[in-house]
Amino acid sequence: MDFLKKKIRDEGVILSDSVLKVDSFLNHQIDPVLMQEIGKEFARLFQHEKITKVLTIESSGIAPGLMTALQLGVPVVFARKRMSLTLAGDLLTASIYSFTKQETNEISVSQKYVTPDDRVLIIDDFLANGQAALGLAEIVQKAGATVVGFGIVIEKSFQKGSELLRSRGFRVESLARIGSLEKGKVQFIEESEVVNA
Ligand code: 5GP
Repeated sequence: MDFLKKKIRDEGVILSDSVLKVDSFLNHQIDPVLMQEIGKEFARLFQHEKITKVLTIESSGIAPGLMTALQLGVPVVFARKRMSLTLAGDLLTASIYSFTKQETNEISVSQKYVTPDDRVLIIDDFLANGQAALGLAEIVQKAGATVVGFGIVIEKSFQKGSELLRSRGFRVESLARIGSLEKGKVQFIEESEVVNA
């Protein structure tokens, strides 16, 4: 995913040693061609997994989640962060602490859309401490469905999420792995440097 790394290098804004802003192509304005490539790559990586559903979380997971689902030929469901009057009926919920907003949100998905026979691929924009990812996995497990793995657009490998998910036996595929944001510089972890991935 050299195209993605180039975008991060060229357009990413380092807000601190732990936060990267990518508003120009992922979190506010969205680059559709990049999203299409991301969808193709996740679909290729998980092509043999008989995925029946993609699950993500609003709002920034929707673009990569949708493109992945399109490539796999399955529906995409996004967890809601706020209750809505239209989101009635039986809900699957989990509490997650947001790294960027520093608040706890109850996320929910209608039971109608994740069912016990589903094989679910979870997609998200960033992996930091793994709270969003674990919350989504909890929802899949509450539905009695199977988590096939995680597709992450940008993994910040210096935070504990990736280790946490892998230590629980989950398959994690991250398209860009960042080893450090220190000194105002994005340092990627190259494939050859990844151990136990
Ligand atoms: P986690 O739950 O893994 O701690 O954080 C993941 C969530 O927080 C992602 O869904 C993403 O929206 C947000 N996030 C975490 N770190 C960053 C970051 O450096 N930049 C941006 N833009 N979002 C982040």
